[in-house]
Amino acid sequence: MHELSIVLSIVEIAEGQVRKASARQVDRIDLEIGTLSGVEFTALDFAWDVGVQHTVLHNAERFIHKIPARARCMDCNHVFDIQQLFEPCPACGLFLNEVVQGKELRVKSLELS
Ligand SMILES: [Zn+2]
Repeated sequence: MHELSIVLSIVEIAEGQVRKASARQVDRIDLEIGTLSGVEFTALDFAWDVGVQHTVLHNAERFIHKIPARARCMDCNHVFDIQQLFEPCPACGLFLNEVVQGKELRVKSLELS
């Protein structure tokens, strides 16, 4: 499952930070996930429960910050919210745009103890 490999890589990041800080575990983790990152949020919840067992994230409180997707029109530079890829520019109707926000998938912060 795609989401499980995401969780496992987050675990890896967290374990690296815990080791570096000579801490014991993670109390809180904040994630930033774009709505176009390809992450299925319910699948992520499920994968999380499985993936963090017996890791430093086992007791961590998890906060997910969803980042809404935005695109910039390649023609008129208009920036607008999108729900999915290849939406037309509301200003000029062109379909060519680049996603400027919404593909994020990162650990924003960790609180260790
Ligand atoms: Zn446009």
